[in-house]
Amino acid sequence: MFNSEMEPTPKEIDEIKNILRKEGKKDATDEDARDLHYRMVALADIVIDVAVDRARKEKKLKENPDGFPLDNTYTCLLCHDSANQETGWWDKVGPLCLNCRDAVRKRVITRRDIKNKDKAMYTDWELKYYFNIHPATQRKAIRDGRLKARVVENKLGKPHLFVYLIRENQDYLPSPKPGYNRVVRPGDKKSFRAVPVKGT
Ligand SMILES: [Zn+2]
Repeated sequence: MFNSEMEPTPKEIDEIKNILRKEGKKDATDEDARDLHYRMVALADIVIDVAVDRARKEKKLKENPDGFPLDNTYTCLLCHDSANQETGWWDKVGPLCLNCRDAVRKRVITRRDIKNKDKAMYTDWELKYYFNIHPATQRKAIRDGRLKARVVENKLGKPHLFVYLIRENQDYLPSPKPGYNRVVRPGDKKSFRAVPVKGT
């Protein structure tokens, strides 16, 4: 329907105007149609760039199965920290910070769980976000044996991220996450079946 030139043809302008009219914009002008055309072309360019970049990375992964340093700044799939050329790694599962990459290599966390993270796990900051359980309260629950944590460590061996696998904490952690397929308020404790610790 659209050619790849930035300037739409008169036929394309008419087609876009018809679509806009059908969508309720009865007074759609040529200018509106042109504007939408530019946006769609720009969006298509981005989609193509992303697809080309992914294909390149897949090819590079075949040559480097252990992955390779990031070529740009990404968000770590596991901890959500920003990761760049120095601090990040492109793993089979996608972009990871070096701490999370090492946790995968040491099998603290599996790629399968990262891929399935919405149903498989909570991180420490997610317990705070969804249930308003303070990190200190979480640590106490870990010490008391009520929560089982997988600990992603930093280079110094200090905790970088606590991960709670739902299958290891079924008595305490609901699945799927409250925000998954339904809306809850941040900090809403009511949807938490059994708060690990009270009054701390
Ligand atoms: Zn990370």
